[in-house]
Amino acid sequence: MNPKPFRALSKGAAIVFGGFLILNLSTTVAIGALRSFAEKKRKKLALPCGLCKGKGFYICKLCKGNATIRWSPLYDPIYINPCVCPTCDGNRVQRCLNCTGKGYS
Ligand SMILES: [Zn+2]
Ligand SMILES: [Zn+2]
Repeated sequence: MNPKPFRALSKGAAIVFGGFLILNLSTTVAIGALRSFAEKKRKKLALPCGLCKGKGFYICKLCKGNATIRWSPLYDPIYINPCVCPTCDGNRVQRCLNCTGKGYS
Protein backbone atom coordinates (compact mmCIF):
# COMPACT_ATOMS: atom_id res chain seq x y z
CA MET A 1 0.00 0.00 0.00
CA ASN A 2 1.40 3.33 -0.97
CA PRO A 3 -0.50 6.39 0.29
CA LYS A 4 1.30 8.77 -2.04
CA PRO A 5 -0.81 8.35 -5.21
CA PHE A 6 -3.97 8.73 -3.20
CA ARG A 7 -2.74 11.97 -1.67
CA ALA A 8 -1.80 13.28 -5.09
CA LEU A 9 -5.22 12.29 -6.37
CA SER A 10 -7.04 14.04 -3.57
CA LYS A 11 -4.95 17.15 -4.12
CA GLY A 12 -5.80 17.06 -7.80
CA ALA A 13 -9.45 16.60 -6.94
CA ALA A 14 -9.28 19.57 -4.59
CA ILE A 15 -7.83 21.73 -7.36
CA VAL A 16 -10.49 20.58 -9.82
CA PHE A 17 -13.22 21.12 -7.23
CA GLY A 18 -11.86 24.58 -6.37
CA GLY A 19 -11.71 25.43 -10.04
CA PHE A 20 -15.31 24.40 -10.49
CA LEU A 21 -16.29 26.47 -7.49
CA ILE A 22 -14.59 29.58 -8.88
CA LEU A 23 -16.08 28.94 -12.31
CA ASN A 24 -19.51 28.49 -10.79
CA LEU A 25 -19.14 31.65 -8.72
CA SER A 26 -18.00 33.77 -11.65
CA THR A 27 -20.86 32.42 -13.76
CA THR A 28 -23.33 33.34 -11.05
CA VAL A 29 -21.85 36.84 -10.80
CA ALA A 30 -21.88 37.25 -14.57
CA ILE A 31 -25.49 36.11 -14.83
CA GLY A 32 -26.46 38.43 -11.97
CA ALA A 33 -24.78 41.40 -13.66
CA LEU A 34 -26.39 40.54 -16.98
CA ARG A 35 -29.78 40.21 -15.36
CA SER A 36 -29.54 43.56 -13.58
CA PHE A 37 -28.42 45.15 -16.81
CA ALA A 38 -31.40 43.70 -18.67
CA GLU A 39 -33.63 44.85 -15.84
CA LYS A 40 -32.34 48.41 -16.10
CA LYS A 41 -32.84 48.39 -19.86
CA ARG A 42 -36.37 47.10 -19.43
CA LYS A 43 -37.11 49.73 -16.81
CA LYS A 44 -35.99 52.44 -19.17
CA LEU A 45 -38.16 51.20 -22.00
CA ALA A 46 -41.17 50.05 -20.01
CA LEU A 47 -44.10 52.26 -19.21
CA PRO A 48 -44.89 52.93 -15.59
CA CYS A 49 -47.50 50.62 -14.19
CA GLY A 50 -50.97 52.02 -14.59
CA LEU A 51 -52.34 50.37 -11.47
CA CYS A 52 -49.84 51.78 -8.98
CA LYS A 53 -48.68 54.72 -11.14
CA GLY A 54 -45.09 53.53 -11.04
CA LYS A 55 -44.86 53.33 -7.27
CA GLY A 56 -44.83 49.53 -7.07
CA PHE A 57 -47.48 49.51 -4.35
CA TYR A 58 -50.92 50.87 -3.64
CA ILE A 59 -53.29 51.31 -0.74
CA CYS A 60 -54.28 47.89 0.52
CA LYS A 61 -57.52 46.81 -1.06
CA LEU A 62 -58.55 44.56 1.78
CA CYS A 63 -58.35 47.07 4.62
CA LYS A 64 -58.49 50.17 2.40
CA GLY A 65 -55.52 51.66 4.22
CA ASN A 66 -56.87 51.13 7.73
CA ALA A 67 -54.23 48.49 8.58
CA THR A 68 -56.93 46.48 10.35
CA ILE A 69 -59.95 44.56 9.18
CA ARG A 70 -63.14 43.69 10.96
CA TRP A 71 -63.14 39.96 11.12
CA SER A 72 -65.52 37.59 12.80
CA PRO A 73 -64.97 33.83 12.85
CA LEU A 74 -68.68 33.10 13.13
CA TYR A 75 -70.08 35.97 11.12
CA ASP A 76 -71.57 37.09 14.39
CA PRO A 77 -71.75 40.88 14.66
CA ILE A 78 -71.14 40.67 18.43
CA TYR A 79 -67.74 39.04 18.01
CA ILE A 80 -66.35 41.27 15.31
CA ASN A 81 -62.76 42.09 16.21
CA PRO A 82 -60.42 44.47 14.50
CA CYS A 83 -57.56 42.33 13.20
CA VAL A 84 -54.28 43.25 11.61
CA CYS A 85 -54.82 43.05 7.91
CA PRO A 86 -53.34 39.79 6.58
CA THR A 87 -52.72 41.22 3.13
CA CYS A 88 -50.57 44.18 4.13
CA ASP A 89 -49.59 43.12 7.68
CA GLY A 90 -50.67 46.50 8.94
CA ASN A 91 -48.52 48.41 6.46
CA ARG A 92 -51.62 49.95 4.84
CA VAL A 93 -50.10 49.37 1.44
CA GLN A 94 -49.79 46.23 -0.61
CA ARG A 95 -47.39 45.34 -3.35
CA CYS A 96 -48.81 45.96 -6.77
CA LEU A 97 -49.91 42.67 -8.28
CA ASN A 98 -49.85 44.05 -11.79
CA CYS A 99 -46.13 44.84 -11.83
CA THR A 100 -45.11 42.76 -8.77
CA GLY A 101 -43.78 45.84 -7.03
CA LYS A 102 -41.43 46.96 -9.81
CA GLY A 103 -43.44 50.03 -10.71
CA TYR A 104 -43.46 49.30 -14.41
CA SER A 105 -45.00 46.66 -16.61
ZN1 LIG B 1 -54.41 45.78 4.44
ZN1 LIG C 1 -47.89 48.36 -10.42
